[in-house]
Amino acid sequence: MSPTKRAFDYIVIGGGSGGLAAARRAASYGAKVALIEKTERLGGTCVNVGCVPKKVMFNAATVRETINDAKHYGFTLKDQPDFSWRTLKDHRDAYVHRLNGIYENNLKKDHVEYFFGPAKFVDRTTIQVQDDQLQAKKILIATGGHPIYPKVPGAELGIDSDGFFDLEELPKKVAVVGSGYIGVELANIFHALGAQVSLFTRTDHILRHFDSCISDTLIKEMEATGIKLVRRSGVTSVAKTEGAELPLNVHYTVEGDSNEHTDAFDCVLWAIGRAPNSRDLNLEAVGVPINAKGFIEVDEYQNTPISGIYALGDVCGHLELTPVAIAAARALSNRLFGGSQFADAKMDYTNVPTVIFSHPPTGSVGLSETEAQAKYGATNLKIYQARFTAMFHSLTDHKPPTFFKLITQGPEEKVVGLHMIGRGVDEMLQGFGVAIKMGATKKDFDSCVAIHPTSSEELVTMR
Ligand SMILES: Cc1cc2nc3c(=O)[nH]c(=O)nc-3n(C[C@H](O)[C@H](O)[C@H](O)COP(=O)(O)OP(=O)(O)OC[C@H]3O[C@@H](n4cnc5c(N)ncnc54)[C@H](O)[C@@H]3O)c2cc1C
Repeated sequence: MSPTKRAFDYIVIGGGSGGLAAARRAASYGAKVALIEKTERLGGTCVNVGCVPKKVMFNAATVRETINDAKHYGFTLKDQPDFSWRTLKDHRDAYVHRLNGIYENNLKKDHVEYFFGPAKFVDRTTIQVQDDQLQAKKILIATGGHPIYPKVPGAELGIDSDGFFDLEELPKKVAVVGSGYIGVELANIFHALGAQVSLFTRTDHILRHFDSCISDTLIKEMEATGIKLVRRSGVTSVAKTEGAELPLNVHYTVEGDSNEHTDAFDCVLWAIGRAPNSRDLNLEAVGVPINAKGFIEVDEYQNTPISGIYALGDVCGHLELTPVAIAAARALSNRLFGGSQFADAKMDYTNVPTVIFSHPPTGSVGLSETEAQAKYGATNLKIYQARFTAMFHSLTDHKPPTFFKLITQGPEEKVVGLHMIGRGVDEMLQGFGVAIKMGATKKDFDSCVAIHPTSSEELVTMR
């Protein structure tokens, strides 16, 4: 039987952050849009195994910390509070499930037709999904990425960040391997909720893409609270001892030490990076090139070299964040379907604010000090810094640090970088991101009257 062929104006492959935004925006201009999602759940990484369930876990960890601090504010907790990971997981999964339904309803409301199943290119204008062939002159690839595993014996005994969200119980002792933001966030969550945590890093640092003030401050705090940093380490294998309380033996080396080390865990979590979902799309059939790591290379307008085929979000590997995928998707749909006023629409990838939901959280926008030095020269920069204890912690025995760094450039002291770590900075950054995007100078910061007593007032009173 020959496949059913259906014609559309726009086919969007991937029902995640970028794909959903692209499809809905194009449909709002009256385009006939088809969206294809491989799994049976809309929302992609962010909703199902990323930002959303991760933030729920961060919130749970924050509740635990608040309980610990409560006695200093006069609250007597008569019994040690019970914590049920399973209850938390049930509530979290139900929330995510509700979101999946909301995304489906939104597509229906916007008249976007959606199909479940893996999409593959047949030719430049035709996509195969299950028994259907869909045709359009414009096709968007927004297929995201997936976590990768190291090539070491026993790697399959570990889990990845997707597996983190499947855990039915809180492990007792966890090895988190990898010190990018996902490894750091999950290590902090495990630890705050009561697991013993070792974080294996290849260097002396964590979060190497961020300003050193964030990495240095967070490492100290993590170690002070009991997370073990296994620096300059490389895991060589994982083996299982059936029946043991901590059945996973992690073998590893440490740079400069000829001995092989072993430690036992009941959970090993790989957080060593992500790879793009580009290899099963049959891109060879249409000539869309991918680079050595599998990322699809696009120009600033999200065009691939093949006319009528576009790509954005994690599959392109540039600033892998949900709001970035969404903004790029909306700009592209505006350009393709929004008329002449959007002829030049494109995503602006500069000064994108970003937060790491560690404990305490971090926030960054603009250049790190190292990047600013490389771009402007150290003598053209003036750096302002403040280190203090947030007022909330004046009464508590545990005093997590707060550290702010403002990087300014030139005689007018234009703010080119802001880096923060401390209680509440995750909610503090967005407004400062607007100011920096508008080109604010130190004088502009200083001209804004402080809000007292807050941590953020330090940013407008720095000397
Ligand atoms: C643990 C974790 C925490 C994160 N936390 C944050 C955060 O706090 N803030 C933030 O901004 N970002 C966060 N991110 C990153 C964010 O989730 C991604 O940047 C974002 O989801 C990328 O959107 P996308 O549309 O490119 O891809 P995705 O959202 O991954 O969507 C791609 C979709 O395409 C589908 N697909 C793949 N192949 C095919 C195919 N052949 N046919 C059809 N469909 C296909 C996939 O199933 C998926 O649903 C986090 C990521 C992880 C893993």
